[in-house]
Amino acid sequence: MKIRNFCIIAHIDHGKSTLADRLLASTGAVTKREEREQTLDSMDLERERGITIKASSVSVIHHYAGEDYMLNFIDTPGHVDFHYEVSRALQACEGAILVVDSAQGVEAQTVANAYLAIESDLEMIPVINKIDLPGARPEEIALETEQVLGLPAEECIFTSAKTGAGIQELLDAICAKLPDPAPRKAGDEAPESDDQKTRALIFDAKYDDYRGVVVYFRLFGGKLKVGDKIRMMGTKRGFAVGELGKFKPKMTRQKEPMEAGEVGYMVASIKTLADVNIGDTITLDNDPAECALPGYQEPHPMVFCDFYPSGETQFDDLREAVTKLHINDASFTYQPTTSEALGSGFRCGFLGMLHMDIIQERLEREGNVSLVQTAPTVTYEIEQRDGVVFEITNPADLPDPSLIKEIREPMITAEIITPNKSIGDLMKLCDQRRGEYKKQQYLSETRQILDYELPLAETIYDFYDKLKSITSGYGTMDYQLNGFRRDNLVKMDILVNGTRVDALSVIVHRDKAEYRGRVLLKRLKQEIDRHLFEIPLQAAIGGKIIARETIKSVGKNVTAKCYGGDVTRKRKLLEKQKKGKERMKRVGTVDIPQEAFMAVLDTG
Ligand code: GDP
Ligand code: MG
Repeated sequence: MKIRNFCIIAHIDHGKSTLADRLLASTGAVTKREEREQTLDSMDLERERGITIKASSVSVIHHYAGEDYMLNFIDTPGHVDFHYEVSRALQACEGAILVVDSAQGVEAQTVANAYLAIESDLEMIPVINKIDLPGARPEEIALETEQVLGLPAEECIFTSAKTGAGIQELLDAICAKLPDPAPRKAGDEAPESDDQKTRALIFDAKYDDYRGVVVYFRLFGGKLKVGDKIRMMGTKRGFAVGELGKFKPKMTRQKEPMEAGEVGYMVASIKTLADVNIGDTITLDNDPAECALPGYQEPHPMVFCDFYPSGETQFDDLREAVTKLHINDASFTYQPTTSEALGSGFRCGFLGMLHMDIIQERLEREGNVSLVQTAPTVTYEIEQRDGVVFEITNPADLPDPSLIKEIREPMITAEIITPNKSIGDLMKLCDQRRGEYKKQQYLSETRQILDYELPLAETIYDFYDKLKSITSGYGTMDYQLNGFRRDNLVKMDILVNGTRVDALSVIVHRDKAEYRGRVLLKRLKQEIDRHLFEIPLQAAIGGKIIARETIKSVGKNVTAKCYGGDVTRKRKLLEKQKKGKERMKRVGTVDIPQEAFMAVLDTG
């Protein structure tokens, strides 16, 4: 049987998952009864938020020109945080379907994903989707695709993943235009003898409560069958294949050996995800290949924050929740940490802000713990006067200022696609965030691509929201990390009732310190309830106080107001107080709620 391996890439919301569903339905892989929206988005959070977080792969059969074709395809996430998921999916494919919304046109992640596919030497089929929408402009968008990405407009296929229009044409084009599976990837310097050897690329893995680790692989050469003794070439670990199969889209066992070019899963009594390296090559223990397949780049966490137990949750509960979630999602990092103010917790690293939100939500939901989270920060590179250079992910770890020669911060190159009329306001925003203008280029008559270099720290929190509001939702952004750069950065400490709260320390630009300090204290004042005593709040650099506020004392119990009044109202108030307290930390004699730890993100 002929095989076609491809992934579906697009900007978020342009219809990848819906198109994937449509491909499943049109090839009869899912019966009418089983059909429900976003079959491939199986995680609860994915359905609720309507986004794809993990790439998932399926195999279906399509009949074309008198032959059966096995189509293995991978639906990928579009959000910028999950680029690494896309790039590893691409490694397993020869082709890519690039979906573009016919009402929205080319967006930032359309461009970014298309470049990833071009870099991986994939054959691309441009698909202009949602042609059923009243505002659809398929011909115009096809031209835009040609102009920006160099994909010929006449090769675009017009579809509606909703009505099914154009889907048969797309399935035929996949069979006709995408290449046969390549025996090995370009750039591989393996000896010729390796071509016949069994080599499979691990492009994903997930933890299943019943089967242990399920490894997703793409076989580039040789065969693989149940009972084979395998070896992971990177980790040098050995296993025996217990089960092989495909996603159709349910996990379906396969008795026959897997052949070169196929995509599938294997179960091999692997206990934790830590035993599997994504990007590693599987070979046969008794007839090993000499060289591993080119892997993919490890994802690097860019945003860090601490989680501390709160309410009834103990540190051990948190540890259990974190280790368990890590078995399922190995892309976040964690290590134990202690804060003078908050006690024992974990410092975790994420691929971006959305990723951080998702991990926090999954910990609380699946791990059943109550958390206090500190404000996210980036990694800083410190050079000391004695020449020692190291990275810190926590402002509290900064050495004494007298030892520091310079502090360097991570930079990004941002590519923003925006309507012409928002250009001025966007430039103002980038300038406020210490951005450096790079270039500007027309995408069409009404839209432009704007390039800026910006400090990552200035973009992690509300930058994207601001961009969206300036452009009335039409602006989109993609970014790449671009090394470290020195600037005039200092640590600002926060004192609550005279005590320095290490979890509130933040690294800021010296010129903005006073302003940020004032904004931060105002926010803290709103978030921290009045106590029986007066609470001074101070911001300091070194020993010098640069801003201060005071929370006045309160004499009475809050519920006193309701005395003699409506009983249910009083009960509700008590419940609300209790709920709030779950996500609260006592520092000295002051109760600080979760929201206060996020106050440092308020840019005013
Ligand atoms: P993804 O983020 O690229 O995976 O996009 P989704 O598949 O989740 O789709 C985003 C939204 O667009 C959903 O509300 C879909 O129902 C809708 N959608 C997808 N394809 C079509 C289409 O062809 N026509 C219309 N009208 N809506 C579509
Ligand atoms: Mg999706």
